[in-house]
Amino acid sequence: MPGLYVHIPFCRAKCGYCDFASAPGTPREIDVFLEALAREAAAHADLAGKFTTLYVGGGTPSLLSEKQLKTLLHIIDGLTGPLAGLAESTFEANPESLDAGKAALLKAAGVSRISLGLQASQDVLLRKLGRVAMSGDFLKAWGLLRAAGFTNLNADLMCGLPGQTLKDFTGSLEWLLKLKPEHVSFYALEVHGGTPFAAAGAKEEPEAAADMYEAGAAALELAGLRRYEISNFARPGRESVHNLNYWDQGEYLGLGPSAASYLAGERRANTASTAAYVKSATAGEPVPVQYREKLAGRAKNAEKIMLGLRKTSGIELSDDIFIEFNDGLRRLSAAGLIEITGGLVKINEDRLYVSNAVFREFV
Ligand code: SF4
Repeated sequence: MPGLYVHIPFCRAKCGYCDFASAPGTPREIDVFLEALAREAAAHADLAGKFTTLYVGGGTPSLLSEKQLKTLLHIIDGLTGPLAGLAESTFEANPESLDAGKAALLKAAGVSRISLGLQASQDVLLRKLGRVAMSGDFLKAWGLLRAAGFTNLNADLMCGLPGQTLKDFTGSLEWLLKLKPEHVSFYALEVHGGTPFAAAGAKEEPEAAADMYEAGAAALELAGLRRYEISNFARPGRESVHNLNYWDQGEYLGLGPSAASYLAGERRANTASTAAYVKSATAGEPVPVQYREKLAGRAKNAEKIMLGLRKTSGIELSDDIFIEFNDGLRRLSAAGLIEITGGLVKINEDRLYVSNAVFREFV
């Protein structure tokens, strides 16, 4: 059963490292976007009632006003029915735009999980990243979410930032762990062309990021959050059902600019241009795509292995697929990168951070 992803392409301000489809938007621009989103959702009415999970990301979904959030929830309801009936429904939020009214509204609508952006607990680093919210704002928003009754919260942290020390990173983690998160995600900084970071000559720090990643993973495991995917850690039973579906090569529909879908063996992504998206969807025309690709045969199996290996539980391969990739699998096993037990293949835990070396074998 597919997951539903909805991309909200608006943020209060653009962070210096960000290359997601997002930009500041006026209330009127957000209203117009929601009208286009309603059109795009209606074009997929044949899938209504078939979704098991929802993820509303961006951008910053919490930037919408309460009225706009109600409109968004109404559009989503047309495809998913009551959110309480789903296995999981996540909204992303940023502290600067979350208040008690929005937290209560999301809770009452049946949203089961919130992912709140932190990145670091040191305000000096947050300022360098161009983040709007400082650590005090995060604390306040986290408290509002707990007070509203949310018992499944994720926080994102970044590693490998310019000027960030290992002590800064583990300090951020200790700071966050005091709040008892159910789920934590790490992301190493990537410098993308066209961003202010790239223009300023910022460099990726893969070695520092790897050290932070390993130290962070150990601290989280000690605190009872188990690594279940390369960058994701959860208390038992709090793993993200929506994201696990991606790694199991499950189907999903993506709505909104840049949103990707995988349905009936086809991968595609909507245009990343909000203007082009709004223009076509509002006119009732198909949304322009950035790419479209039919996946079959060896390419589909290779992708299945690459996605499955992201999970620490690994992937159980059928005999056919095992034979098809036998040479590569044996090479990786001999190099100590993966572990093969019967048909079950896993990346060795201490090699997860260098997983790209494993994935290259299947490209
Ligand atoms: S809040 Fe997130 S999506 Fe928005 S600009 Fe910053 S990094 Fe990008």
